[in-house]
Amino acid sequence: MTTKTKCINLSFAPLNLTTRHPFGISYGTSSQTLNVQVQLELDGLIGLGEAAPASYHGESRETVMAVLAKFQAHQEELLGNSAHAIHAVSTRLDKMIAGHSAAKAAIEMAMHDLAGKMSNLPTWKMLGLADDLTENPAPMTDFTIGIDNLEMIEKKTEEAVAAGHKMLKVKLGTSYDRQIIEKVRKVAPNLPLRVDANGGWSVKQAVDCARFLHEHQVEFIEQPLPKFALKEDFQFVKDHSPVPIFADESVCKASDVARLAGAIDGVVVKLAKSGGLLEAMRVIATARAHGLRIMFGMMIESSIGVTAAAQLSSLCDYLDLDGALLLKDDPYEGALWQDGYLRLSEKPGLGVSLKA
Ligand SMILES: [Mg+2]
Repeated sequence: MTTKTKCINLSFAPLNLTTRHPFGISYGTSSQTLNVQVQLELDGLIGLGEAAPASYHGESRETVMAVLAKFQAHQEELLGNSAHAIHAVSTRLDKMIAGHSAAKAAIEMAMHDLAGKMSNLPTWKMLGLADDLTENPAPMTDFTIGIDNLEMIEKKTEEAVAAGHKMLKVKLGTSYDRQIIEKVRKVAPNLPLRVDANGGWSVKQAVDCARFLHEHQVEFIEQPLPKFALKEDFQFVKDHSPVPIFADESVCKASDVARLAGAIDGVVVKLAKSGGLLEAMRVIATARAHGLRIMFGMMIESSIGVTAAAQLSSLCDYLDLDGALLLKDDPYEGALWQDGYLRLSEKPGLGVSLKA
């Protein structure tokens, strides 16, 4: 009889999150986020991950659960028995099923968590991203105001300012975008402000709106055009906009950066789009090679997803890691929000645990 080598054991479960306010973006509004929590277990240690699927990237909780079930059925040959074989595991997952980045990101971040716990080191240290000479190596994170009626926009902005947020991001892509900005600026006339149209504008709308946003001291515009907009359309908007243009939905992998470089000023990196931290670092490196600025963002996620993303925050120019701050019921605790900054802990792995 042959002895079976113990392999990393994958399990997963639905993770339902509720936002404090209904969260509106140009694709729709929702209070419920249907994520999936992933656990990888090896030698009594557990690595945590989170999948945050987005319909506009072709994923849902159902597709995530189906993909994870398939990986689980083949876990011996896919996951092996080394928590440090993160790149190798990602390559095998990609070979078995293309796409499905949110599902893969959950496994990949859980691998980082497990590897850190095995080595008794925080993930950010394992990745070489410690900096003991700089007090704040990572930028401040902003706080997002979702699409809503004007009365609620004013109320949400007041709440954000009262909670101590010093940097705001506003979702646009409505028929009343200018009034939204005027409301926010009425409450917060001087706070750094960026906007995200989530692909809600045409080329003409983007250029017209960019001029207006420039007058209201907006730092940059995220994803003015739809996800599959042509490079020449991004180029036209960039050439006619006084405000820098960042691509979010249009850039998932490092190869997408190369495709749009020259026609944008920056990219938004997210684990749910890249499929994990390693590819996110390749997206960042490719963007830097093309002289682009970098924002690290996220979907609506618990502290698992936030804390996984925050591991790479010192590589970025801007952070939009407020996903857990928007929640009413984050079941986890990890990176701590402190006066606008996310503080990572010295705990091994990602540094995330269930709230007591
Ligand atoms: Mg965005």
